[in-house]
Amino acid sequence: MPFRDVVGHGRQLSLLARAVQRGSVPPTLLFAGPAGVGKWRVAQALAQGVNCQALVDGDACGTCRSCDRIARDLHVDVLTLAPDDAGTIKIDPVREVLSRTGYRPFEGQRRVVAIRDADALNEGAQNALLKSLEEPPPATMFVLASAAPDALLRTVRSRTMRLAFGRLTSDDVVRVLTRDHEFTRDAARRAALLADGSVSVALALGSADLTSSRAKAARLLAAAALHDVSARLAVAKDVIGKPELSRQELAAVLRVASSLTRDLAVVHAGADRGTLANGDAADTVDRLAAQLSAAAARKAFTTLDRGLSALERNAGTKLVAEWVAVEI
Ligand SMILES: [Zn+2]
Repeated sequence: MPFRDVVGHGRQLSLLARAVQRGSVPPTLLFAGPAGVGKWRVAQALAQGVNCQALVDGDACGTCRSCDRIARDLHVDVLTLAPDDAGTIKIDPVREVLSRTGYRPFEGQRRVVAIRDADALNEGAQNALLKSLEEPPPATMFVLASAAPDALLRTVRSRTMRLAFGRLTSDDVVRVLTRDHEFTRDAARRAALLADGSVSVALALGSADLTSSRAKAARLLAAAALHDVSARLAVAKDVIGKPELSRQELAAVLRVASSLTRDLAVVHAGADRGTLANGDAADTVDRLAAQLSAAAARKAFTTLDRGLSALERNAGTKLVAEWVAVEI
């Protein structure tokens, strides 16, 4: 997918297109930004751009043999690394990829080593990369994509040029969902409202049952009014349920809870209720507004955000639910 088909990130894309046009793309890049905003798509578009046989204003044509092979993941000079089933990138696949960078590109102009979720590289794998990041082999460039760039070793960070990606707008998320994921416009809007600018979150919410997620989210928020720790732990147990919620389902609950806290802020401020994300559950919002003050809602928002980060860092679901219920 060329840059022009990527949704959002206009500034980053025009920077990259100019660099492709001039042949001045830095050899080591770190795409840093939230999960599910399209960093990996941009990395692929960049790999196409630097290898395209019919470049148009710094952007890949999308149809030449090279663009086509990259899109289908068949191009021998575009090497990708991604976390294994255990969620890590170990040293062996890294060594294997590096051993292939010792030669000139076979079919393209520039070899691209693209690393998805680069924060999953274990320490040995990161150390194995250092020398290549410092002195990239001729005609080779590295693109690391990460939602948690600060989890990378300082030495890796200092050898890469960081390009920051922000969250998508709600309209952009709707565009991606309707264009690429067969969402109806209404379903896309609903998911986008809660997705916090991330397509992957929207997709997770789309598959989770919103009504049940919202009921659990409301129960979790109401725990803020409980003084007794054991009562709060009982709420966590109830939210996790049986069979236990998956990581994705719990993340959906926390995100819905987070959107409810934003709605509480709207209600407490007496602002236009038309902007409520959970406008279709106005009685739930009003009930919670009676239980949680504006300050309590703000504190809950911060706690939920920290709970979500812990989940993204692979903390256990039960532990996160308990921590949130106690701290909220
Ligand atoms: Zn092309």
